[in-house]
Amino acid sequence: MAIAFVDGCIIVGDGRVLEHATVLVEDERIIKVSEGNVTIPKDTQKMPLDGQTLLPGFIDSHVHICVDGSPDPVTSALSESPTMTTLKAANFARQTLLAGVTSIRDMGGKNGIDLDLKQAIHTGLIPGPRMLVSGQLICMTGGHGWQLGLEANGADEVRKAAREQIKAGVDIVKLMATGGVMTPAVEPGSEQFTEEELRAGVEEAHKAGKKTATHAMGNKGILNALRAGIDSIEHGVYLDDEAVSLMAERNVPLIPTLSALFNIERKGIEAGIPAFAVEKTLKIKPFHLKSIRIARDAGVRIAMGTDAGTPFNLHGENMGELKLLVDYGGFSVMEAIEAGTRIAAQVLGMEKELGTIEEGKLADLVLVEGNPLEDIEILLKRESIRLVMQGGKIVSGDDFQ
Ligand SMILES: [Zn+2]
Repeated sequence: MAIAFVDGCIIVGDGRVLEHATVLVEDERIIKVSEGNVTIPKDTQKMPLDGQTLLPGFIDSHVHICVDGSPDPVTSALSESPTMTTLKAANFARQTLLAGVTSIRDMGGKNGIDLDLKQAIHTGLIPGPRMLVSGQLICMTGGHGWQLGLEANGADEVRKAAREQIKAGVDIVKLMATGGVMTPAVEPGSEQFTEEELRAGVEEAHKAGKKTATHAMGNKGILNALRAGIDSIEHGVYLDDEAVSLMAERNVPLIPTLSALFNIERKGIEAGIPAFAVEKTLKIKPFHLKSIRIARDAGVRIAMGTDAGTPFNLHGENMGELKLLVDYGGFSVMEAIEAGTRIAAQVLGMEKELGTIEEGKLADLVLVEGNPLEDIEILLKRESIRLVMQGGKIVSGDDFQ
């Protein structure tokens, strides 16, 4: 099966825009990208691009597919059966894909459902983004996320917990370095796992060839995680010069997840979000926004991640993060698109396969009406998305329902 996207605007994902370009897809890969005249092989389905823009499939590098985005999603996740969580997660996966997000990194699941969902999508049983999963997050007793996490204390227990998750088949080991917003009675700014505990988890993951990620809001916890050799900082609320220079030096990306913060602020206590979560969100917001700017100035890579699943942060509305990066992070539209494509692919460790429209890469593509560089809102509207292709297969579009 070959498809040619003919004579149109291509946003490559690396900062370049190609005009009057043609992209040829054969089987699962992009085999030709050219601005000049291209000989299109016979038996190729031609799709004229006029008035539309072709982009790489987007990558959300921080979601919780097992968490439903209800006002109090942790309580909801705890009260529903694993079967119900699975059914909802399958729907969330489909909604995410239809929004133009062809890959996700799940940052904390429930009952191993994220692992099975990944398998179901991978084998073609159900539609959804390709997934990298972290299984159960690992936290200290009573630490942030303990309700769905695996509690461990001391380096040996963290080591064991990491080994258990790797045995279960996770792609990433998620370690909790600080408190957070959605757990009552923990402070986002306070450190949780010690540097020694974090190092034990990181060592085990790296031995198994896996990446690590840390929920890290407070400064001390961020520094602990960086010194322990962590591969990505999630949230990064209280960054300082020392933290960002370490991140830049070690090439550790930041995933700010602004969608979590802004949706909690937007809906508030009136909508049923627990008061403690709203209060903590409002308290950390100014520090968080400042941190993104410090990180950018220091040259830290910043990737799109929504934390979808947190209150009113809905699966399928992932692209809202790009607009927040523009409106509050000081990004140009092009930089925001790169955060959601090329940079996010690096966070997943899949930059050789995904993230840009280049010959040899997997054909994960999104075709939209108009030009998002002129109006980023185009990416946020489902009706503007004409087609979503994943691994060379059209998974959503006018001719495919
Ligand atoms: Zn999260």
